[in-house]
Amino acid sequence: MTKIRAVIFDMDGVLIDAKDWHYEALNRALGHFGFAISRYDHLVTFDGLPTKKKLEMLSIERGLPVGLHSFLNTLKQEYTMEIVHAKCKPTFLHEFALSQLRQRGYKLAVASNSIRNSVEVMMEKSALARYLDVLLSNEDVKSGKPAPDIYLRACENLELSPSECLVVEDNQHGIEAARTAGCPVMVVGSVYEVSLDNILVQIARMEGR
Ligand SMILES: [Mg+2]
Repeated sequence: MTKIRAVIFDMDGVLIDAKDWHYEALNRALGHFGFAISRYDHLVTFDGLPTKKKLEMLSIERGLPVGLHSFLNTLKQEYTMEIVHAKCKPTFLHEFALSQLRQRGYKLAVASNSIRNSVEVMMEKSALARYLDVLLSNEDVKSGKPAPDIYLRACENLELSPSECLVVEDNQHGIEAARTAGCPVMVVGSVYEVSLDNILVQIARMEGR
């Protein structure tokens, strides 16, 4: 059995509960032009997709002018950061989990499909940056998830083989990326499942203990 030596976390939906922030920010931007996404559509169709992709879908389905995409994208990122500065705070659950894992000798990383600035600011505001050995954004690889690149790069930077790195993921694209990279995957339904106990149980299971 391979020993697990590192844990690589996805960010949105795993360490940071940012679903509503992305929804709120995009709707604020769209609102200037009389467009809106319902909460239902967001949860069922749009969640987890990059803003660019969401805008393309709105153009095809509802006639949002393509000429607005770049401006809307910029505006949406600005609003997201405003919300992050107001709402992103440390949570005991995750600080405890990461600090304890580190103390037990595990290396830790974050590999996110978000842009670098978002990842850095969210990790700082949630007080998790200090526990991380590696921090990767979609700007560090050519192809984002579901391509395996970001997880392969994380393993490389951790100087470990993929089979030694447990990935914690919440969404289908990310799970596919991690499995293709050859990492064992712990699938979570929300940030509240990302606890020290749950991670240790998964590690023991992967190691056949
Ligand atoms: Mg996620």
